[in-house]
Amino acid sequence: MFESLSQRLSSTVQRLRGRGRLTEDNIREALREVRVALLEADVALPVVQALVERIKVRAIGQEVLKSLTPGQALIKVVRDELTKLMGSAADELNLNVPAPAVILMAGLQGAGKTTTVGKLAKLLKERRKKKVMVVSCDVYRPAAIKQLETLAQQVDVLFFPSSTGQAPVDIAKAAVSEARKQFVDVLLVDTAGRLAIDPAMMDEIKKLHAGLDPVETLFVVDSMTGQDAATTARAFADALPLTGVVLTKTDGDARGGAALSVRYVTGRPIKFIGTAEKMDGLDVFHPDRVASRILD
Ligand code: GDP
Repeated sequence: MFESLSQRLSSTVQRLRGRGRLTEDNIREALREVRVALLEADVALPVVQALVERIKVRAIGQEVLKSLTPGQALIKVVRDELTKLMGSAADELNLNVPAPAVILMAGLQGAGKTTTVGKLAKLLKERRKKKVMVVSCDVYRPAAIKQLETLAQQVDVLFFPSSTGQAPVDIAKAAVSEARKQFVDVLLVDTAGRLAIDPAMMDEIKKLHAGLDPVETLFVVDSMTGQDAATTARAFADALPLTGVVLTKTDGDARGGAALSVRYVTGRPIKFIGTAEKMDGLDVFHPDRVASRILD
């Protein structure tokens, strides 16, 4: 991610050598490089502006520690601000509720929701030793229900069947009572997406949220959608009390700006990243690593 930022900064930063202090004047060029690098990484413009402003405010007038060159001092400020924006530590799923803990998945069609349900089911079963059930509330696409069934078989978790004639809330509620009967620890609820933000989709997911009262509401977003990821994130964060984000397809994303944008826009932690299509392609997100990858 952002490999070019430290390279970009290195020459401008060289010119800061020999100055005792960072001033608005002498960091202007360096800040421009930060701005361009973040935009090239596909970070959404308002996020870039906010970030550069914070870096500027913190950097200006800062006495440069004897051990650091002014350039190093600036890079430290950039690193600190990126880390702060991303959150400081990996954030786990909250399962501290009476069973079954319900996890609701939200996001556009194609974002990777169904795939992520399969991956999360596997992770919860294998690493956290949970009894897991999955259910699809996508009553518009029989293929999506079938896809989830196949994944459930593959990772060997319970699958609650549903069909296109039913109301999503009814399916979800029936799944919760079945999960309770079977002493399931975690129920993962997959939902219907659309190709773009759509009021009917938002209405439906809001109803599902109200009916289920999930302990986690995860927004799933394709990291390769770049600037659009921020817009989509804003719409979902406005509609639902999200508890976290899953950033998918990071294996195909060279730029990485979506992580910054989505974190900033939703104010919610990125809990997992998708790193491959296969069922073990899900990693815990480490915010501190992002800042390092940007700069080192
Ligand atoms: P949904 O419509 O949101 O349920 O999206 P799907 O789960 O059907 O995923 C859409 C496509 O993205 C599928 O072809 C998945 O295999 C693929 N996909 C999902 N997550 C990842 C990921 O982390 N990496 C890669 N390379 N592909 C992914």
